[in-house]
Amino acid sequence: MSRSAHPAGPRYADVLPEGHYTAPPADLNALDPKVWPLTTARSGAGSVSIGGLGLAELAEEFGTALFVLDEDDFRTRCRAWRDAFGPDADVFYAGKAFLSRAVVRWLTEEGLNLDVCSGGELSIALAGGMPPERIALHGNNKSSAELRQAIEAGVGRIVLDSFQEIVRVAHIADTLGRRQPVQIRVTVGVEAHTHEFIATAHEDQKFGLALAGGQAAEAVRRVLKLDSLELVGIHSHIGSQIFDTSGFEVAAHRVVGLLADIRDEHGLELPEIDLGGGLGIAYTPEDDPSEPHTIAKSLREIVSRECRGAELAVPRLSVEPGRAIVGPSACTVYEVGTVKELPGLRTYVSVDGGMSDNVRTALYDAEYSVSLVSRASDAEPMLSRVVGKHCESGDIVVRDAFLPADVAPGDLLAVPATGAYCRSMANNYNHALRPPVVAVRDGAARVIIRRETEEDLLRLDVG
Ligand SMILES: *Cc1c(COP(=O)(O)O)cnc(C)c1O
Repeated sequence: MSRSAHPAGPRYADVLPEGHYTAPPADLNALDPKVWPLTTARSGAGSVSIGGLGLAELAEEFGTALFVLDEDDFRTRCRAWRDAFGPDADVFYAGKAFLSRAVVRWLTEEGLNLDVCSGGELSIALAGGMPPERIALHGNNKSSAELRQAIEAGVGRIVLDSFQEIVRVAHIADTLGRRQPVQIRVTVGVEAHTHEFIATAHEDQKFGLALAGGQAAEAVRRVLKLDSLELVGIHSHIGSQIFDTSGFEVAAHRVVGLLADIRDEHGLELPEIDLGGGLGIAYTPEDDPSEPHTIAKSLREIVSRECRGAELAVPRLSVEPGRAIVGPSACTVYEVGTVKELPGLRTYVSVDGGMSDNVRTALYDAEYSVSLVSRASDAEPMLSRVVGKHCESGDIVVRDAFLPADVAPGDLLAVPATGAYCRSMANNYNHALRPPVVAVRDGAARVIIRRETEEDLLRLDVG
């Protein structure tokens, strides 16, 4: 099933994407636990609540569009990943999926570490109280200022991504009188998306140093010559929204191969390997992700087997789930503004948000599901396209969805599984005001990111 290209572009609006459900779900009022946050419930009267709070009441209090983040769901997933990998491994939450100080506090309390990839993310991580030694800094073009900020703070690792960066990090660490722990990001020639992976000799992409052709081995040589760098491991990240571990298997085989080469050349066994993130979640009820313990068991077995084959001690393993932790923890609540029927085609349902709060549909043809949440309905299913309010025909929130035929202006819709890469990719197109994130737990709501205001816009526009 391809997620990046299918025939159901706007010009072929009557064609459902390949692999997409073509029939309405049996019960439009049902909320599939695979895609909804843990504490989601529909009351007897038909309205939906999360964390013990009605989405309609939350919308009333905080306005729409609104991200509702289920703290119990988030913490439960953190714990599941942590417990699945156990004390001999580290789970780094990928902050780019969604980061705020409240989230950093939850991560710290739940025993997770944190990946950041910019000075901004690093500032939030530190302000939220994550101990610096539990922070890793990634990125293919970190600035000298970002590197200095990280080294000064004392981050636990910097993942080196280029030959230039090796020299830069060494120089800054040297100036500051530090010895900085580093990993080297390698590209293993595996590209994984969803259900398929492609193993190639070369990867045509901007991240990391290639194993093929010896760039990674050369990076190791250069790092080992520099006293201000402490090489602790090798890092690999192969893709996103991955549903099985076969891509990781090839990656682990190649990374362990490099560890064996390093031992043979330098007489040194590196203590860590990081297999990155990219574990998939259910965006629609059709998706079927594995549980963390299944993934952990499989990754540990793969690494142990490869190390046995290479006669290496098993290094400490790290993983970096972002989406798999925060993705399913949140939903976006929108109010319906207009309903436009195109006879014989579908009905366009416009909501008060769109590509400014969820750009993934426009960017990657991502699929989502959507439900009416302010009431239950026993109206017939209606093939719908939920669209935003931006001046762009690609401003689609959910390309193909079945909603009750009586959906009307003023109804609230919610799109589940929007915790990752939605608020963090939010933008001000059309001078939209980015929505707030409200955390809910045990009947209490707390704004963790407030709604943007026109004053915020005007503050940046200096006239
Ligand atoms: C994006 C990214 C992740 C997280 O990816 P998810 O799909 O959110 O799990 C982890 N590690 C690195 C290096 C990344 O770039």
